[in-house]
Amino acid sequence: SLTVFETAAPMTEVPGYFEDTRHAAELLSSIINEAEKQQELKSNGRLAELDGPPEIECKNVHFYFPGEARPTLTDVSLRLPSGSKTAIVGPSGSGKSTLLHLLLKLYPPSSGTIRIQGQDLAHLDEDQLWKNISPVLQGNHFFYGSVRENLRLAGDNISDDKMNEVLSYVKLDHLSVDSVVLEKGANLSGGEKQRLAIARAMLKKGSLLLLDEPTSSVDPITQQRVMNRLFTGAKDNTIVLISHNLTGLEHMDQIIVMDQGRIIESGTFQELMEMRGGYFYRMKMIENGIWGQVQ
Ligand code: ADP
Ligand code: MG
Repeated sequence: SLTVFETAAPMTEVPGYFEDTRHAAELLSSIINEAEKQQELKSNGRLAELDGPPEIECKNVHFYFPGEARPTLTDVSLRLPSGSKTAIVGPSGSGKSTLLHLLLKLYPPSSGTIRIQGQDLAHLDEDQLWKNISPVLQGNHFFYGSVRENLRLAGDNISDDKMNEVLSYVKLDHLSVDSVVLEKGANLSGGEKQRLAIARAMLKKGSLLLLDEPTSSVDPITQQRVMNRLFTGAKDNTIVLISHNLTGLEHMDQIIVMDQGRIIESGTFQELMEMRGGYFYRMKMIENGIWGQVQ
């Protein structure tokens, strides 16, 4: 059943493809690889070490993309306690991914501050930060090579057995560590790519999980199993989950609703559902298919 992974056209037939995705893979690699700079950084005294699941605090964060007149994030303030589970929801284009990218220090805020465990992100070394983060970002983060090579971005010393175990957690038992992945995961379905990215995040074991619509292309039953497994394995860690739907958010500590770059509502599932005129309540009713009855 692995034939499908071995018969696709070589990537040399797709000029210009390789460089871009190699660059993306390298960026991701530096994000999710174990940083070796740590000792060096400690010895020059610039940085304290992140110690356990981090607390995150954003204070009055505004963000403009270069050259854009309109802000993409406006006055975003939030606090995510150590070990807390936070969902971010809202319409597409509302700034959810951008906020997550700022937490990853891919861009600096235009104004305001982001602190991780009390340390301003602006003063924190990227490698030091990324060492602690398990990201599942949108987009294609696979390069031509084996499943093993792609998963190894999570760490150099992960055994095949461990990889196989995690592949079964994400319901990719039909793959082996020797299966071939094409550039951008072109021979995998959208849902398989997402589950492989989740497998990599599980293997990385960062104390902060940043998940951007990690199962948007996965069927609901598999989604529930995979997410349960992911959350069980990360129960002590700080988790930020951008979610494309509102199912299963009852157990999150906090839900943040964004619209047009602003936080418009936040609270527990229960608290948001009690705001009858609120965005979250209305979205939940639509999702349940009973909007007509409450309008
Ligand atoms: P969401 O994840 O909620 O769908 P995004 O954070 O991806 O929203 O996007 C928020 C807004 O920022 C959108 O209007 C989008 O078009 C814009 N945007 C995203 N990336 C860029 C970019 N690199 N340059 C300029 N605008 C961008
Ligand atoms: Mg997004």
